[in-house]
Amino acid sequence: MPRRWLFADQLGPHFLDDRKQPVLLIESKAVFRRRVYHRQKAHLILSALRHRAAELGDQAIFLRAETYGQALSKVREPLEVCHPTSRRALEFVRRLDRVTVLPARGYATSLADFADWADGRRGALRMEPFYRFARERHGVLMAGGDPVGGRWSLDPEHREPPPKDGAPGVPAPPRPREDDIDAEVRADLDRWEREGIRFVGRDGPRHFPATAKEAKARLRHFLRHRLAAFGRYEDAMLAGDPWLAHSVLSAAFNLGLLDPMEAVRGAEQAYRTEGASLAGVEGFVRQIMGWRDYVWHMYWYFEPARRNRNELATRRSLPAWWNELDADVVDANCLSDVLTGVRDRGWADHLPRLMVLGNYALQRGWRPAELAEWFHTRFVDGYEWVMTGNVIGLSQYADLGRMTTKPYVAGGAYLNRMSDYCGGCRYDPRERLGENACPFTAGYWAFLSTNRPRIPANARLARTIKQLEGLSDLAAVVVQEKRRGNDPP
Ligand SMILES: Cc1cc2nc3c(=O)[nH]c(=O)nc-3n(C[C@H](O)[C@H](O)[C@H](O)COP(=O)(O)OP(=O)(O)OC[C@H]3O[C@@H](n4cnc5c(N)ncnc54)[C@H](O)[C@@H]3O)c2cc1C
Ligand code: SF4
Repeated sequence: MPRRWLFADQLGPHFLDDRKQPVLLIESKAVFRRRVYHRQKAHLILSALRHRAAELGDQAIFLRAETYGQALSKVREPLEVCHPTSRRALEFVRRLDRVTVLPARGYATSLADFADWADGRRGALRMEPFYRFARERHGVLMAGGDPVGGRWSLDPEHREPPPKDGAPGVPAPPRPREDDIDAEVRADLDRWEREGIRFVGRDGPRHFPATAKEAKARLRHFLRHRLAAFGRYEDAMLAGDPWLAHSVLSAAFNLGLLDPMEAVRGAEQAYRTEGASLAGVEGFVRQIMGWRDYVWHMYWYFEPARRNRNELATRRSLPAWWNELDADVVDANCLSDVLTGVRDRGWADHLPRLMVLGNYALQRGWRPAELAEWFHTRFVDGYEWVMTGNVIGLSQYADLGRMTTKPYVAGGAYLNRMSDYCGGCRYDPRERLGENACPFTAGYWAFLSTNRPRIPANARLARTIKQLEGLSDLAAVVVQEKRRGNDPP
């Protein structure tokens, strides 16, 4: 059986054909010189890779080298590798004569299935019809040819504001226990920093699974204790609780530790045999088979240049406080709390990413490609393939709506409804002008005013544009926000 080369995001058992298959694992130090990563992201990747090497023992050749090329020169036998997750890595492995590239693993649908579905379809390729296709293809939550419960999506049931008492009523995901491998990784990273490799963010206890066993344990805990509240609070944000009822499994999926279909089947079973609510289960399944796969396919299906789209023609670079995750200089409660979470954990949930971080960047006119690099390197689950869809398409509207019908931009009123941030903030979400003007509310109107000519006409925006036209102080708001510029709000 040929030796299977596993990249550091292909670490689970589903990347092997046989439990005894010979394996090659490579740890490249140059990867950490090329980009400035969050310290906890570097820790998680190295910890996961080294744990896999320890699990496999003699079955694996584990090489630590400066570059992949240097490591490969020490292995003479033919190799096979599953389709890597970035274009750069795919080109690299394709150039190597003795390496056979196999189809991708770790996603619900294959690239070929997606192409079959997408080729020849008219108009924008939206997530919703793809999700239906994927559910039918895999027979998930189906009753004959129909979706169970009669509806494909229970999305409207997922929009509840946070619970009034500030507690979603579910236990937090237990933190994995660190071991000697983590201690060794921490010591190595300290040494690398002294040698000049730069990281951002704070070091801290490992919050995310580094082994398949830890990932399965987190999935089990989620299905048993947290899934019930998942749908309800999917869009809510709480200052004191970064995890709410989310699965916190994205890093485990993206490291390849957990097969996404295992999570999907586990959730379906919870619905069919354990009485879990359909709203929560369908919502979770949609995140994985729908959004995650859709974003993956968007990356491969569309031209590479999509990563550099910038149809709103933004020109500002990310400011230093943002790049350095300096949450202490930010007064705006929502942004300060979310940025603190990124600094201290390398993670935030979907709504904080989309409606606090992405929304703020969009309002400020920051370059989408720089923001994509920021999300890629500052988040423990950040990978290049995730960025094109989530940052360029969804969050920054830089492709003028291939993924979404209107930009994800919102003012303080929305954030006030969906979070408990505004009560303790020095700004007022209702104000757009003056000392107390909420930077999100003012930024929202300034964004719409500036970008209106570029945003395609859209029925969903018609009421907002009417409101915009009725604002007597709009010019002053635009000037105020220009003055605020890139300063921390
Ligand atoms: C600006 C921006 C940047 C993002 N960057 C990343 C990223 O670097 N890596 C990443 O995995 N997700 C990213 N997401 C998607 C989403 O925010 C995270 O997957 C989610 O917050 C992870 O938390 P969770 O595991 O608790 O997710 P849950 O809410 O429990 O969802 C279950 C799973 O669904 C998958 N999923 C859901 N939505 C998406 C999506 N839009 N894209 C990809 N997978 C999805 C994830 O694997 C997640 O673990 C980004 C979203 C935005 C708006
Ligand atoms: S008032 Fe504005 S800045 Fe303050 S927490 Fe609310 S939305 Fe954020």
